[in-house]
Amino acid sequence: GRFGLFGGRFVAETLMPLILDLEAHYEAAKTDPAFKAEFDNLLTHYVGRPSPLYYAERLTEHLRGEATKVGKPGGAKIYFKREELNHTGAHKINNVIGQILLARRMGKTRIIAETGAGQHGVATATACARFGLECIVYMGAVDVERQKPNVYRMNMLGATVVAVQSGARTLKDAMNEALRDWVAHVDDTFYCIGTAAGPHPYPAMVRDFQCVIGDETKVQMQKAEGRLPDSIFACIGGGSNAIGIMHPFLDDPSVEIFGVEAAGFGLDKKHAASLAGGRPGVLHGNRTYLLMDKEGQIEEGHSISAGLDYPGIGPEHSWLRDSGRVTYLSATDVEALEAFHRCAKLEGIIPALEPAHALARVFDVAQDRPRDHLMVVNISGRGDKDLATVAQYDGEALDDMT
Ligand SMILES: *Cc1c(COP(=O)(O)O)cnc(C)c1O
Repeated sequence: GRFGLFGGRFVAETLMPLILDLEAHYEAAKTDPAFKAEFDNLLTHYVGRPSPLYYAERLTEHLRGEATKVGKPGGAKIYFKREELNHTGAHKINNVIGQILLARRMGKTRIIAETGAGQHGVATATACARFGLECIVYMGAVDVERQKPNVYRMNMLGATVVAVQSGARTLKDAMNEALRDWVAHVDDTFYCIGTAAGPHPYPAMVRDFQCVIGDETKVQMQKAEGRLPDSIFACIGGGSNAIGIMHPFLDDPSVEIFGVEAAGFGLDKKHAASLAGGRPGVLHGNRTYLLMDKEGQIEEGHSISAGLDYPGIGPEHSWLRDSGRVTYLSATDVEALEAFHRCAKLEGIIPALEPAHALARVFDVAQDRPRDHLMVVNISGRGDKDLATVAQYDGEALDDMT
């Protein structure tokens, strides 16, 4: 469960038997053809996979035009991996389906989850409704107030949303509360984590479930262009959509891989870039790069996209950064907003603000690559959830939509 110096299993002794039991069941499920068949079947018929690999022709031509203007000969050919077309509108459902099937296999009847922006809570509530499982979602009280539409969605799906009143009343406090619940309900409860973080085996397990993104991309690019892509881009919150598309390409040295963190107001101000602006520590049961103050207290991240303001990053990314295999960049709120608008106007696709961060860096790196360079960007989710935020930044109020 270690990725170099990162990862591991830093949990209270009372949690150890639960985690070892989970690990044993996951190891068995992983090699069971029946488990894989059930997972694949749901991904096909419930989630709507495979998601298309789409050639973003107008965006490609637009960036080539921009490159020509500044005297550059380049302009990569850009493809979108369209995770925003999944049921519930993002990649999170891939992982949730995997974990819920595992919970059923373990005989668990009660599912708990933590959520910040509410997207993982909605995905978990969705899968629990599908299987008739009790679902309790811990959410910081501040986030409950900020993310009303998602709270409403979770309630509609039959989940119970618990507003956590401790600490700063945001994601970190919701995570602590979920861990506390897990210890208190040893027999019947499964903890469904929403990103490639947490104590081992979660980071590896979530990655494995999300690898469907990269595995499909490989096959689809082979079909479209007869070869591997030359580069891959994904945004990073905790890092699950990114590790899902990256991991199947790690052993292909010709493929450049980029992760894009949220630089918020700027890396010298409030941001959510744990690699660019954090340092190693322990949170949520693993050792990784974290946003911390001088005393080692976890700091609140800031990003225009609520899905990226996790104060840490999955441990495998910390290792991939230090080993140099993956290049980590960042994009500010303003850059992400600009990319959001450009993508909507040029492609008729309104991306979530999270992948808009990846797009912001694609816009400049693509201009520096030759025209036969094949670039894939993971469009991890759709932007419907972000319309009110974007309107507010653009100086409009969409009160009736929130
Ligand atoms: C939650 C979310 C993210 C960030 O989570 P990762 O684990 O880093 O993938 C990114 N994009 C969308 C659309 C999300 O909902």
